[in-house]
Amino acid sequence: MTTPLLPTTLVGSLPRPAWLATPEAVRPQWRLEGALLAEGQDDAVLVALKLQEDLGLDIVTDGEQRRRHYIEGFTRGLDGFDYTRLVEKHTRGGRYTAPVPTVARPVAWRQPVLLAALQFARAHTTRRLKVTIPGPMTIVDTSYDAYYHDERAFAFAVADAINAEARALAIAGADVIQIDEPCFNVYLDQVAAWGIAALDRCLDGVAATTAVHVCYGYGTPAVLAWKQQNRDWEQYRRLLPLLRASRVQQVSLEFAAPRLDPAVLRLLGEKDVLYGCVDVSPAPAEPVEVVATRLRAALAHVPPERLYPCTDCGMAPLPRRLAQEKLAVLVAAARQVRAELAGGAPVE
Ligand code: ZN
Repeated sequence: MTTPLLPTTLVGSLPRPAWLATPEAVRPQWRLEGALLAEGQDDAVLVALKLQEDLGLDIVTDGEQRRRHYIEGFTRGLDGFDYTRLVEKHTRGGRYTAPVPTVARPVAWRQPVLLAALQFARAHTTRRLKVTIPGPMTIVDTSYDAYYHDERAFAFAVADAINAEARALAIAGADVIQIDEPCFNVYLDQVAAWGIAALDRCLDGVAATTAVHVCYGYGTPAVLAWKQQNRDWEQYRRLLPLLRASRVQQVSLEFAAPRLDPAVLRLLGEKDVLYGCVDVSPAPAEPVEVVATRLRAALAHVPPERLYPCTDCGMAPLPRRLAQEKLAVLVAAARQVRAELAGGAPVE
């Protein structure tokens, strides 16, 4: 199957079925346990893949159906993160407070964390398959450091672990490895000082297409409140040239909810753009024409060969039907603009 222009994808997560986990929660409770939980997660992945294929998404994920939360779904599999010693911490530059694990000994990668999940998904889809891994800066921000006392050293230990994982996933058939770094929108000084170097360390020698996802977070009330009061998007003038200099091939950014002007994409140089044109708030799906208009606006700044219509962020906490509707709009808008490109119609 050849990939069309404007290949559609999602950031990563999809809602879990209500029979598997409490719905519409950022940290849901599993409704099954033991062998039944594992079987239920397998089934949920099959449903998530089928849904994406039926909707017509070109690059799919397993919907992160096995992860209770995108960060701890990875860090619990590493040595060094103690989830029996949770500490309340101000995270994301003080925007939120969250219980985070204590790190009181070196972080180490002993064996693959996400490999079995990738192999299962790989065995059940022929579409291009993406796996997401939380990034070093975001993991550092979501941990209480009682060992390194140096965020750069901590981040590079985490980056080494991510790199080992990413290499294993690429060899096992992941087409895209995406590093999720919402904190790149928060700590610009640290992004410049060590964040890009840590990202590059994650991706060193990884035999797959590489991506980084930078965002504001799920469409939850706390995040939406912050996003709606923020008026200053100047950070992109600093962030995007830094990302341009990194080794990452694709950059995933949210444009729909923040109403960000896609003209900033010129600062990314030759990177592929995973263009967030569908918001992930609990608001109803927008009309296809609204999303198509966003795609046309991006095409004024990015050639179609490098534009990947995408969601703003993960969809795990959304009602299941709503997430499905939003993905359907994404695919319909991409098809419409694709047809316009093929027909030679003006694209603004
Ligand atoms: Zn996100």
